[in-house]
Amino acid sequence: MKFARVIVGMNNPETDRVFDYRIPEKFEDIAIQGMRVIVPFGKKNTKTEGYILSLSNVSEISQEKLKDLLEILDEGKPIFTPAMLRLAEWMKDKYFCTLNQCLQAIMPSGIRTKSVWYASLTDRKDIPKCGKMEQTVLDALADMGGAAELTEMEKIFGRGCKSILQQLQKKNIISLKQRLLRSDFKIEKRFFSINFNATLLENAMKKAQQDKRLQGQKMLFDLLLEKGECSMEEIKGKGINDSPVKTLLAKGMIQERREEKKRAVFSLDDYEKTSPFHPTSQQANALAVIEKQLIIPVKKPILLHGITGSGKTEIYMQSIAKVLAMGKQAVVLVPEISLTPQMMERFISRFGAAVSITHSRLSAGERLDQWKKAREGEVSVIIGPRSALFMPFSNLGMIIVDEVHENSYISDITPKYDAREAAKKLAEDTGAVLIMGSATPDLVTYHKATMREYLLLELTERTGGGFLPQMHIVDMRKELEEGNRSSFSRVLQQEIAKNLEKGEQTMLFLNRRGFATFVSCRSCGHVMRCRDCNISYTYHAKENALMCHYCGKTVENPKTCPVCGSKYIRYFGTGTQKIEDEARRLFPKAKILRMDLDTTSGKGSHNRILEAFRHGQADILVGTQMIAKGHDFPNVSLVGIMAADTSLNTGSFYASENTFQLITQAGGRAGRVNDTGRVYVQTYQPKHYAITHAAKQDYKGFYGEEILLRYMMGYPPFGAFFSVLVSGQNAQETVLASEGLGRLFQEGNQDGNFFVMGPVAAVLSKFRGEFRQRILIQGKEEEALAQFVVRIVEKAKKNTKKEIYFNLTPNPMNIV
Ligand code: ADP
Ligand code: ZN
Ligand code: ZN
Repeated sequence: MKFARVIVGMNNPETDRVFDYRIPEKFEDIAIQGMRVIVPFGKKNTKTEGYILSLSNVSEISQEKLKDLLEILDEGKPIFTPAMLRLAEWMKDKYFCTLNQCLQAIMPSGIRTKSVWYASLTDRKDIPKCGKMEQTVLDALADMGGAAELTEMEKIFGRGCKSILQQLQKKNIISLKQRLLRSDFKIEKRFFSINFNATLLENAMKKAQQDKRLQGQKMLFDLLLEKGECSMEEIKGKGINDSPVKTLLAKGMIQERREEKKRAVFSLDDYEKTSPFHPTSQQANALAVIEKQLIIPVKKPILLHGITGSGKTEIYMQSIAKVLAMGKQAVVLVPEISLTPQMMERFISRFGAAVSITHSRLSAGERLDQWKKAREGEVSVIIGPRSALFMPFSNLGMIIVDEVHENSYISDITPKYDAREAAKKLAEDTGAVLIMGSATPDLVTYHKATMREYLLLELTERTGGGFLPQMHIVDMRKELEEGNRSSFSRVLQQEIAKNLEKGEQTMLFLNRRGFATFVSCRSCGHVMRCRDCNISYTYHAKENALMCHYCGKTVENPKTCPVCGSKYIRYFGTGTQKIEDEARRLFPKAKILRMDLDTTSGKGSHNRILEAFRHGQADILVGTQMIAKGHDFPNVSLVGIMAADTSLNTGSFYASENTFQLITQAGGRAGRVNDTGRVYVQTYQPKHYAITHAAKQDYKGFYGEEILLRYMMGYPPFGAFFSVLVSGQNAQETVLASEGLGRLFQEGNQDGNFFVMGPVAAVLSKFRGEFRQRILIQGKEEEALAQFVVRIVEKAKKNTKKEIYFNLTPNPMNIV
C-alpha cells in the first residue's frame, strides 16, 4: 500500500502541515509528487484541494483514521516540479508564512478549486418546532426559492448563519451540499471523423442520402468521407450546423477527438528575425566569463554592471542562445513596468517560437497556457515579472534578473518574497547560472560583488558610441533668493520653451509620492533629521511635530530654520498634479500628459500613456519615476527632475541610493539619439553626494561615499533590519501589545547584540481600520537577527489576544 503526503490548500497556520492519505488502487500507478488532488478533510470530510509533497510506503496514522485520495486533477500532470516544491519550503522559512501560501504563489493563478456550499429545503413534511432564528432563516430560504448559496445567506444573516443551517440539517429540514467549481481555462479544438466500426453505418448513410430532411447529415457524411477528419470550424464553414453533428455523434456514427489549443500571446508574423550583433570587446569579455560559468559545476552569481545602452540586453540574448544550444531553458525576469513592447520585440525577433512572455495584463488562460508550454517543452525562454521565476522548466540553465536594483521584485502580497533572493536560491538548487544586470546596482549587491561573492562584469561604454546627456544641477535656494517661487527654475523654463520651439519632447520627473512628508528650509536647504539614525524626520500635521520613524524620537516642529533662521520652512509633498497645473500655466500651448498612480489605475493604461507619448502625441510628460525604466523615447532631448529632495528625504536609509538611481536612470532617457540631450536636476541640496555623483554618472564615486556611511551606521550590508508591525482593531490593546513585545525584546537582549527601536506609531498609524505600532530591530547579521525576532514574537503571541496581529518583515524597504 502507498500513501501520499498532502498539504491542504487552506490559509490556516494550524492546518499547514502534512496529512497522510491512502492512495486507492486506481491511482496507484498514477499518483506522483507535485500533483494537485482533491481530498476529504476534517471531521465533515469536506472536499478540499491539496498538493502531494511526497509519496511513502509507510504511514504513522492508524488504518482506521486514514482516508482515501478522492481525485487527481490536471489530467494527471503534476503542477509542481521537485525544484518548485523545494523553493516553496525555502520561501516558507524565509518569509514567515505558510507552505500553502508559498505553493499558491508558485502555482498558476486562477486554477484553484473553489468550494461552494448550497442550502436547500428537504421534502420533509412534518416540520418540527424550530427556534425563532431558525424559523427566520427557513422562511428566507423558502423565499429564495427553496435553495441558496451559503454565502448569499451569510450576507443576510451574518457568519453565524452556518451553525443555524447545520442545526436545521440535523433535524433533516434542510440539506447542505458542497459543490466544487474548477477552472482549467482550457480551449479545445474538436475534430470529427466517421466511425467505420459502427454496425449500422451503412444504413444511416443510405437514409441520409434518401431522406430530404436529413440533408445536413448527408453533407456531413460526404465531407468526412472526402477529408477523413475535419475540425468543427471546417464543418461550419461548409454551412453544416450543430444538429447533424450532435445527432450522428449520439448515434455513434461519427467520433470526436479533442485537442488542447494553447493560446498564443503574440503572432510570429509580426516580427522580423534578427541576428546577434558582433560583440564589442567589453561584451566579448563578459560573454566569455558567462560561458565558462555555464560549464563549470560550482557556479557564482554574476553581476553585470553596465551603463544604460552598454549592451546588457544583447549579452543576455547571446548567453541564452548558448543555454538553448545546451538543451536547457532560461528565465528572464524584468520589472513589470519595463516589459515594454520594444523589450518583447527584441527577444521575439531573436528567438522566435522558442520564447514566450507572461505578465499581469494577460488573461488567466493566456498565462496558464504559457506556463503549460514551458512545462511541456514547447518554449525554452520565458520573459516576465517576478512570478515568471516559477515556470515549471525541467532543465533550467539560466536565470536573468534585469534591473536588479528595482524594488518591485519584492512581492507586495503574502508571501512577501523577494524574487531576487528566490532566483538566487533556485539557481543554486538547479545549477543554473544567475545573471543580475543593472546600470545602478543596489549597494548590497555591489558590495557582494566587490567581496567576490559574485562575479563582477562591468560595461563602461555605450555600444555604437551613443551619447550621454549633459547633466546640470539647479540650486533651488538661489531661485527663491532671486524671487522665483515656482516649482520650475528659470533655466528649466527656458529649456522647455526651446524644446517646444524645436518640436522636441520633454520629460518631467517627480519622485513617487511617499507616505512621509519631510520638512526642509528653502533658504539654506537644511533638512530636519534625527541625529541618532541619520534619517529625515517625518512631519505629523495633527500634533504639528516631527518624528523619526526608526527610533521614535519626537521633536517640536520649528518655526524658523535652526541653521540660518529663515522662516521659509516648507513641508514637502509636491504632487504630479501640481506640476502639471503649473506647466499648463507656464506653457499654455503645450500638449501635456501626466502619468502617476491616479492616471494609471486601469490595466494597461500606463503603457497606453507611454505609447501615446512615444508617438509624439504630447510635448511634455509629467510623471513619477515609473517613467524612468525600460522605454526608449527617441524624441526626448530634455529631462527635468523637479525635486530631487523628495527622494533624498523619504525617511529611509535607502534614500540616497534611490535618489542616485532615479537621477542616473532618468538621465538615461535623454540623448539616446543625438547630442542635444540635457538633464536638469532641481534641488535644495545641490552639494549632496547622491546628486553630485549622479550628475557625473559616477557610480563608483557614489558607492565609495555611501558604503562608508553604511559602515558607520551599521546599515546593510554591514547590518540588517527587521520590522515587526503590531496591529489590531482596538487602539489601546494594540499599544499595550506592542509595549509588551518591546519589553520582551529588551529582556531577551541582555547582552546587547541587537538594537531595539520602538515601539512607535507606524507611519501609517491607522490603515484599513486597524491601528499599527512598529518595532524596528537592528542586528549585525541577518540570520541571527531573524532567529532572535521570531523567538521573541512567538513568546509574545502566547500572552496576546487573538485579535492582535504580528507582521514580520525582514529587510524592510519602507518603514511604514
Ligand atoms: P542595455 O541593455 O545595457 O541598455 P542594449 O542591449 O539595449 O543595452 O544595447 C543598446 C543598443 O545598442 C541597442 O539598440 C542594441 O541593439 C545595440 N547593441 C548592443 N550590442 C551591440 C553591438 N555589439 N554592436 C552594435 N550594436 C549593439
Ligand atoms: Zn535654513
Ligand atoms: Zn532616530
